[in-house]
Amino acid sequence: MSVAEMEAVPTPAVIEPTTTALPDWADLQRQVASCTACGLCQTRTQTVFGKGNPRARLMLVGEAPGAEEDKLGLPFVGKAGQLLDNMLAAIGLGQDDVFIANVLKCRPPGNRNPAADEIAACADYLRWQIAHVQPDVLVTLGRFAAHALLQSDAAIGVLRRETHQYQGIPLFVTFHPAYLLRSPGEKAKAWQDLLAIRRALANKA
Ligand code: SF4
Repeated sequence: MSVAEMEAVPTPAVIEPTTTALPDWADLQRQVASCTACGLCQTRTQTVFGKGNPRARLMLVGEAPGAEEDKLGLPFVGKAGQLLDNMLAAIGLGQDDVFIANVLKCRPPGNRNPAADEIAACADYLRWQIAHVQPDVLVTLGRFAAHALLQSDAAIGVLRRETHQYQGIPLFVTFHPAYLLRSPGEKAKAWQDLLAIRRALANKA
């Protein structure tokens, strides 16, 4: 993620319900890999579909691939990914316990913020990923994912104080790990969010 959370918040690009039929998982992967629906296809090295267990009980949604992710084709592989792994391990979760995806499947050049038209063009893929994974709990990391799934432009600090719903799935809002790397003073709040997520998973078990 390239821009601090506290920057001016743009009009949110929301992920509206779709009437398009749900492709199967392999077809969805193929569609993403060959997608040219927005201009990011011209600057990406490769698409970044997601990683983890497509049957996981917990699904996390970040913003967009960065330079490392674009190079390797996997989300959350740099320092932010390492921190996310540590955060999940702190509540007893490993790679196989989660599925992780981003709102955008291609890297915005220079790690700039996602544009509203790019989020709209990519929205079906995330919606379909959630429909396939059917997690017990959804977690958004950072404001772009929260705003896209909750159709809200409220600040993360406000949204993270309550549990939301996305199509009947409990949704928790927390900070993007890249933001936590820049603002380590917020880690105590992120820990509170993790505990709430752990409780929600336990309640659904
Ligand atoms: S960001 Fe999404 S919509 Fe744009 S080219 Fe990549 S996969 Fe397609």
